[in-house]
Amino acid sequence: MPELPEVETVRRGLERHAVGRHIREVEVGRERVVRRTSRRALIDGLTGTTIEAARRRGKYLLLPLDSGDEMMIHLRMSGQVLVAPAGTERPPHTHVVMHLDDGNELWFVDPRTFGEVVVFDPDHVDVEVPDVAVLGVDPIADDLTLPTLRRLVRSRRRRLKPLLLDQHVIAGIGNIYADEILHAARLRPDRRSDELSLRSERLLHRSIGTILRAAIEAGGSTLGDAQYVDLMGGEGSYQDDHRVYGRAGERCSTCGVGWIRRTVSAQRSTHFCPVCQR
Ligand SMILES: [Zn+2]
Repeated sequence: MPELPEVETVRRGLERHAVGRHIREVEVGRERVVRRTSRRALIDGLTGTTIEAARRRGKYLLLPLDSGDEMMIHLRMSGQVLVAPAGTERPPHTHVVMHLDDGNELWFVDPRTFGEVVVFDPDHVDVEVPDVAVLGVDPIADDLTLPTLRRLVRSRRRRLKPLLLDQHVIAGIGNIYADEILHAARLRPDRRSDELSLRSERLLHRSIGTILRAAIEAGGSTLGDAQYVDLMGGEGSYQDDHRVYGRAGERCSTCGVGWIRRTVSAQRSTHFCPVCQR
């Protein structure tokens, strides 16, 4: 599932290829991607508008329109946003097509159709897209300072892994980057958030920033299923830098001593090194 670095890579592509563009016409195929509203609402909400900016909060893409509304795109498991010249053969599972005024088309493609495209009124975000209204601090788009992070972890008696995955606390981190961040911070995923030393809190804070920024620079992680790609269809390369995610049974490249272990709880896998993570 695309996480903050992958969605940020798509956002940067949208900034280059969609911002300032006028949407001439909209086609909606599968109604499931517009399930919060309707096919008609998406077509009416987008047609004739100009995309003014490309923002991101957590894993949500938010594109303000000149009508005052905003377009929200969530990739969920397998969604892709692609741009291509009009007339290009569309891939299977292309559910939304926006015809832009520069001769390109913007596609929302999603084989598993958990993703969605919504037009909403930002003045009523808490009613129309309540999940956006309750997102926690975004570690890249917002200023996640050490005091803020300390407040967030100390006020909760949670295990670190589920805490990092909780989008209401910190928005954008999913299974891959939670494991990589905790490895970089040398913290076991089952450590309690309210029992960290100041040194560990500092390391966690620094690791969140360095891992996410490095992953953004690498264009995100594209795993074996190749479902995540950027706007031009290119794959990310950060998977080559994963230290623990997907490396169960391998020797830890950080300490050179431990063997990467994989555990599963609540249907989510966790990868860590029992030697360098304490
Ligand atoms: Zn290790």
